[in-house]
Amino acid sequence: MEFQLSEEQKLMRQMVRSFAEEVVKPRAAEMDETDEFPMDIFKEAGKLGLLAVNYPEEYGGSGADSISTVLASMELGRVSAAVSNICASIRHHLFIMYNYGTEEQKRKYMPGMSSGEIIGSFALTESGAGSDATGIKTEARLDGDHYIINGNKTFITLGPVADFTIVFAVTDPSKKAKGITAFIVEKGTPGFSVGKKEKKMGQKGNPVSDLIFSDCRVPKSNMLGAEGEGIKIALHSLDSGRIEVAALAVGLMQASLEASVDYAENRVQFGQKIGNFQLIQAFIAQMAADLDAASLLTYRAAALKDSGKKFTREASIAKWFATEAAMKHTTNAIQIHGGYGYCKDYPVERYFRDAKLTQIYEGTNQIQQIVIAREVMKGGWQSNY
Ligand SMILES: Cc1cc2nc3c(=O)[nH]c(=O)nc-3n(C[C@H](O)[C@H](O)[C@H](O)COP(=O)(O)OP(=O)(O)OC[C@H]3O[C@@H](n4cnc5c(N)ncnc54)[C@H](O)[C@@H]3O)c2cc1C
Repeated sequence: MEFQLSEEQKLMRQMVRSFAEEVVKPRAAEMDETDEFPMDIFKEAGKLGLLAVNYPEEYGGSGADSISTVLASMELGRVSAAVSNICASIRHHLFIMYNYGTEEQKRKYMPGMSSGEIIGSFALTESGAGSDATGIKTEARLDGDHYIINGNKTFITLGPVADFTIVFAVTDPSKKAKGITAFIVEKGTPGFSVGKKEKKMGQKGNPVSDLIFSDCRVPKSNMLGAEGEGIKIALHSLDSGRIEVAALAVGLMQASLEASVDYAENRVQFGQKIGNFQLIQAFIAQMAADLDAASLLTYRAAALKDSGKKFTREASIAKWFATEAAMKHTTNAIQIHGGYGYCKDYPVERYFRDAKLTQIYEGTNQIQQIVIAREVMKGGWQSNY
């Protein structure tokens, strides 16, 4: 077992840290204030190869591994959860395209997605189907060489700015979960429109909206994967996405720890710096220990993913542990900052708002526990790693 990052991985981390510090950090508070999608930062991330870190160069990727990917998510998450999530979302769509797209679909979309010229989205959730994704009602009816899609999707990340979406629709209601199929629908297709944009608590600048499909005709060739394979594709890609959410949460914890240490070293009460008080030190010690544990779980899940073995259990454990820890420690970072932490002059209140979402999306933390228990009880109690 190797606990050292390779030289390539260290270089990747250094490169992302420079980009994060010099380009993203100075804009993070403004993004949180305006809630505007940072198109220029996004394009720059594409040029640096941060959108397709772990995809082959022939499809526009950087050809690195999944550890490098989570390092990128951690470093971006340390300065802006919104930017980290935007980049991770693109990789979520790339994961589907790479693993399930035809060669023609890969060549058409992946290079542009990797460079930041084409933005995608992932449209599974509906108002009546969140945790229970198999309950979706959006339907795709075969009509000659086309499918006609009808239905509404909700909470779709990047929905307002995406050039295409991967939409999941029922093609055969009699087959239940095995009757759901994925399709690519491009912006501008008649019958496809963007609905209301959500006003979120955090991760502002990363837009989320409804998507509406009203007699939207797409050619059969827009099917992604095989007919009836939709739920398998969605769940497989969510396993991968969960590792990225864990990494983002690690980034938020790192930022909270750094801000807390800095404040504890400088704030004076009762004639001494508050960092001298053991109750403040307890906060710091717990943050540092959970940060290490969450990082290691995230690296383990990423390494397992690259080994080609099943990583469902490890991804859910990393996501659950890291995001619960991030919520706890972003809250404690505010406590260390006292009243100042509750106000916008310090970034810790943003970390706290940004962390909350990590417990909800890519499967809530209640769903992660169901997944972990299911995997363990069917004999996977010992990690595949
Ligand atoms: C900002 C944001 C971005 C998102 N981006 C996307 C996206 O890009 N694409 C997409 O398709 N979706 C997206 N989602 C949707 C997200 O995945 C869902 O919100 C999430 O899966 C939960 O579904 P829900 O909100 O309907 O809650 P519900 O499923 O209604 O859950 C409500 C509560 O019940 C709990 N619960 C549900 N079932 C069980 C159970 N069996 N046992 C115990 N507890 C349970 C949940 O954990 C939760 O606490 C996004 C959501 C948000 C908020």
